[in-house]
Amino acid sequence: MAARAHAKLSPSGADRWLIHCTPSANLEAQFPSSAGEAAAEGTAAHALCEHKLKRALKRRSHRPHSDFDSDEMEDCADGYVAFVLEQMQEIPNALVCIEQRLDLQEFVPEAFGTADCLIVGDGILHVIDFKYGLGVLVDAEQNPQMMLYALGALAMFGSLYDVAEVKMSIYQPRRENVSTWSISADELMVWTEETVRPRAQMAFKGEGAFTAGAWCQFCRASPRCRARAEAQLSVAQKEFRLPPVLTDEEIADLLPRLPEMVKWANAVSAYALQAAVNHGKKWQGYKLVSGRSVRKYVDEEKVAEAAQAAGFKDIFEHKLITLTSMEKLMGKAMFNEVLGGLIIKPQGKPTLVPESDKRPAIDVVSEFTNLEEKENG
Ligand code: SF4
Repeated sequence: MAARAHAKLSPSGADRWLIHCTPSANLEAQFPSSAGEAAAEGTAAHALCEHKLKRALKRRSHRPHSDFDSDEMEDCADGYVAFVLEQMQEIPNALVCIEQRLDLQEFVPEAFGTADCLIVGDGILHVIDFKYGLGVLVDAEQNPQMMLYALGALAMFGSLYDVAEVKMSIYQPRRENVSTWSISADELMVWTEETVRPRAQMAFKGEGAFTAGAWCQFCRASPRCRARAEAQLSVAQKEFRLPPVLTDEEIADLLPRLPEMVKWANAVSAYALQAAVNHGKKWQGYKLVSGRSVRKYVDEEKVAEAAQAAGFKDIFEHKLITLTSMEKLMGKAMFNEVLGGLIIKPQGKPTLVPESDKRPAIDVVSEFTNLEEKENG
């Protein structure tokens, strides 16, 4: 599978241009795509899934190879195939389409998309999307990317199958996340008329208000977007306006905003650096210098020879392979059988997270708390 082409209004960016910030697609078009290593790894994982699913369905396919090949990728692709086959059993007269290109132009100007897998049969359409990413946990509920794929699939197969229910699943193995959501075909059409058609027209023309939020993270315009900068800077100004000491309430109010501020600050820094390194851009008051580097051997064999010739014998170290490598080597079951009693998992460093986080709260009586109590008498 080659890297997929993207329309201006692509389903993968629909959360941004369709739901939150309609003018973003036009603004993004001014900036080059900067798909990085994670995107290349995702493309490789998708290609492996495609291959394995085709083979499982007895279709012709040549095994893809990439620099990202790993046991983990194999396991994830196998899990995906098993999931698809299981879903297929539940649909009468199932037809499975893999890497299906979908024309969305009936609903969204100049748009198309590619669904990882569609299963269509009597009364039901199931859209399945494989996510190899680790960064963001993806939910199928009200997921506009999945809903657009479903629309394209309904347009394609609606005349052949009488679809009443549309199921959508996200299979995200590295986050142990399988999320499935259903909607009736009728409700999907209401969403199309009330939301998709009008907002896609706005997005295509660049109309509507620039609205910053968590969805800015993957927007190509984000490092230079004024709306995002203003949103972050207004937070900073408001929070630090009342010196000298912030109240507990102010800090509690600030905490949920910090991750977004950090992401924005990092995105601006990365953009400025990339422009300076790759395009010779000069930023007023800044210059490029070489970062910190560490010494390294030019040729390890020659170093060993030279050191031994000089009489030094104790120059090698033997280390156990890492726990993850050991588990991969042995397989999970054998690993647990042989080494289960020799593994401990120390408590992680305390991390402050929102109440909504699924991890249970820990009870920490810290020096900080004792100190506060003493100070407060
Ligand atoms: S960075 Fe955010 S506010 Fe700016 S265009 Fe992109 S999505 Fe909209």
